[in-house]
Amino acid sequence: MKYVLVTGGVVSGLGKGVTASSVGVVLKSCGLRVTSIKIDPYLNTDAGTMSPFEHGEVFVLDDGGEVDLDLGNYERFLDVTLTRDNNITTGKIYQASPSPLLEFIFCGFLLKVVPHITDAVKNWIELVASVPVDGKEGAADVCVIELGGTVGDIESMPFIEALRQLSFSVGKENFCLIHVSLVPVLGVVGEQKTKPTQHSVRELRALGLTPDLLVCRSSQPIQENTKVKLSQFCHVSVSNILNIHDVPNIWHVPLLLRSQGAHEAIVKQLNLFSKATPPDLM
Ligand code: ADP
Repeated sequence: MKYVLVTGGVVSGLGKGVTASSVGVVLKSCGLRVTSIKIDPYLNTDAGTMSPFEHGEVFVLDDGGEVDLDLGNYERFLDVTLTRDNNITTGKIYQASPSPLLEFIFCGFLLKVVPHITDAVKNWIELVASVPVDGKEGAADVCVIELGGTVGDIESMPFIEALRQLSFSVGKENFCLIHVSLVPVLGVVGEQKTKPTQHSVRELRALGLTPDLLVCRSSQPIQENTKVKLSQFCHVSVSNILNIHDVPNIWHVPLLLRSQGAHEAIVKQLNLFSKATPPDLM
């Protein structure tokens, strides 16, 4: 199994979900089978346990799972049918492991976030990634995992650690990290600012994860010199720095990614040349 992890930095609501879905579309257009997992690090078991004022609209899956709207995007963008297990939350991880955890407690074992919770996260991801969601037999080629929230959030730390361990155990050829970040423009200066992205990449690297691709969200297309600066400071080659500027309709996003060669960069990183075909017109 090949994994594509999408993380976000600087602010929430950047468009990680739209980016993850669109990455799935460009990979699917190369003939690859794609599944997806959304991680919501909150303590609730699912989105249905929150007030609509708190969470906003909830997406209901075929199996009755009440989840984030991002899973609706995955289903629509990728033409797949997901289950409640494709959405991981901290609440679910703790709830899913009561019997082994309780057994451990009553047997006097020392229970820790690392390795007990991180192992539970890794096992969950590996198990769910192998379940086909497109009506065909056998596991998908690629599992796109979106980590909700922003890198550095306290509640996402166990997930980051689990994903770091997963990236190490599956190896570089099977793990591609895409970090979505913000490139703002300061009104008075009129300059595209790279510092917030530099800081969020530094934070990610301090946690043991180095991005293979950077997706810069901006209001207007970013300039070449901005990309060069980001490349120097973030340890990502210029060709792997992609830009998703504001578009009138999110269906433009897969086209934006394809026009910048996102599929080529991911296929190269994951060494999927033998399986991937030139992208169909989407
Ligand atoms: P996140 O997963 O980071 O919280 P979402 O993917 O849910 O963010 O996107 C947040 C909002 O921004 C959604 O309403 C989405 O439609 C919108 N959005 C995302 N990307 C773009 C874009 N490139 N242009 C315009 N709107 C966007």
